[in-house]
Amino acid sequence: MRRKLAAGNWKMNGTTASLSEVSALMAAHPEPGCEVLLCPPATLVAAMAALTQGKIAVGGQDCHANASGAHTGDIAAAMLKDAGASHVIVGHSERRADHAETNEMVRAKAQAARAAGLVAVICLGETEAQRDAGETLDVIGQQLFASTPDGATGANTVIAYEPIWAIGTGRTPTLAQIAEVHDFIRSELAGRFGAEGGLMRVLYGGSVKPSNAAEIFATSNVDGALVGGASLKAADFGAIIAALDAA
Ligand code: PEP
Repeated sequence: MRRKLAAGNWKMNGTTASLSEVSALMAAHPEPGCEVLLCPPATLVAAMAALTQGKIAVGGQDCHANASGAHTGDIAAAMLKDAGASHVIVGHSERRADHAETNEMVRAKAQAARAAGLVAVICLGETEAQRDAGETLDVIGQQLFASTPDGATGANTVIAYEPIWAIGTGRTPTLAQIAEVHDFIRSELAGRFGAEGGLMRVLYGGSVKPSNAAEIFATSNVDGALVGGASLKAADFGAIIAALDAA
C-alpha cells in the first residue's frame, strides 16, 4: 500500500557532466519496482528532468516558504515545479544547521511545496548528544509534529528519519534503533493523520550504502531510503535500488 522510494540527495555536488551517472542508472535499471527520486543541485533540476522524462523523479533540495519576492539566492517551490521537479527536500539537517532553519520554517516550506504541487520530503533527526541523553523519541516527536503541516497526506508528504550523527559518517544506528524510531513515527502519523498517516512513506537516511541497504530495508516500517554520498554514483545507487526492489 506504500510504494517503496529510493531517494538520492546530491547536496552541493554535480555539474552537467554528472548527468552521465543518471543515464547509466537508467540504462542499468530501466524499470525499477520502487519509485526513484534524485535531488540534484538546483542548477541541474531542469536538465535532469529533461533527461529522465519522469522515469526517475527529480526534486529540489530546499525551497523558500514564500511564492516570490525579494529573497536573493532563494528558490520558490513553483520555480522548481516549473523546472520539472516533482519533489523537494525540506528541513535537511544541513539546512537546519547551516541556515538556522526551525521546525516552523520547515513546516512553512512544506506548505509552500504543497501549494506548488510538489511532494515535500520532510527530514528529521537527532544529534548524537540527544541520542546519548535518551532524548531521541522526544526530539523526533517534536520535530515531526512541528515540521509537518496539517493536511499532510501520503500523496504530498514523505518523512525522512536521518540521525544527524549518521549522515556522511559511515556510522548507522543498529537495526533495532532504526525500527524503534520508524515504528514511533508510523504510530505518531497514524495518531495525527488517521488512515492518511498510514499512507505516508517513512525513509531512513544516514550512511546507506550497497552493503547495508538490504538489512535496513528489511527493518520494520522502513519504506525506502534518502541517500547522500552513495547516490552520486550509478553503480552504488543502482545497487541500493536493487536491494529495495528485492525487499
Ligand atoms: C543525507 O544527507 O541525506 C544523507 C543521508 O547522507 P549520507 O547518505 O551521505 O549519509
